Amino acid sequence: MANGNLYIVATPIGNLNDITLRAIEVLKQVDLIAAEDTRHSRKLLDAFAIETRLTSVHDHNEADRANYLCGLLAQGQDIALISDAGTPLISDPGYRLVRAVREAGFEVVTIPGPCAAVAALSVAGLPTDRFLFVGFLPAKQQARRTALEILQGESATLVFYESPKRIIETLQDMAQVFGAEREAAIAKELTKAFETVKTATLEALLVWLQEDEHRQRGEFVVLVKGKEALSGEILIDAKVLRAVELAREHMPLKKACALVSELTGVAKNQLYDAALKQSNA
Ligand code: SAM
Repeated sequence: MANGNLYIVATPIGNLNDITLRAIEVLKQVDLIAAEDTRHSRKLLDAFAIETRLTSVHDHNEADRANYLCGLLAQGQDIALISDAGTPLISDPGYRLVRAVREAGFEVVTIPGPCAAVAALSVAGLPTDRFLFVGFLPAKQQARRTALEILQGESATLVFYESPKRIIETLQDMAQVFGAEREAAIAKELTKAFETVKTATLEALLVWLQEDEHRQRGEFVVLVKGKEALSGEILIDAKVLRAVELAREHMPLKKACALVSELTGVAKNQLYDAALKQSNA
């Protein structure tokens, strides 16, 4: 008997009409649907008269469930993975399962569809040629600041998910680390009744959010435009600069630049200039 397939199925991020025809077809045909929260997903499935059996796969049982699900695939059963909303694996469980299933030699098939990050990028008017998906920042302020500092020099558009509980604190930290004038966007409640997309400086976005408490509710994607090079300035990856900073704790700056240059291939003098600029900033 042929092996079964694992289908990774995207579901709506708000508006139920965004489900794809293929998603409905696959969810009806598979033998089992693995879902993050079975009660939540039952409502979605009921809306489309999908009667397939559900089983739970979440962050805490994913490794164990992978063995069980591989067993079913070996018996020829087809399985779909869905998350509470959007594309599984994107700030959602599934990575360990997909990896285990692929390593066991079974097919993993994508049924693409909504994803809040891509939806936000497509409407905000910030550059989309290069973007870096960061997802959720740490909840604790010190760790969040450190995470943002590492991204400070990044030139690609940055994409974050944030909860309404922390949206103000996060924007305040972003304004401090990236500068209040850095251009950014808030994409809130996408595809839902109160969808709002606002592109402005971090400072203006904070004022806008603080003007009205209702604006602080809902689901948010925050986009931050990447750092722009001043004319003549060469952008160096933030991780490379961080390596110089760490090396500098143990040796003079010139030596630290030579060492990191050797490891990364970035020119020594460029590293030196950038490190000096950073410490004078
Ligand atoms: N897998 C999902 C996807 O493909 O976008 C993301 C899941 S993650 C657990 C949930 C976060 O995604 C929310 O906290 C919010 O930051 C973002 N999000 C989900 N739906 C959204 C929507 N309709 N509008 C804005 N952001 C949304």
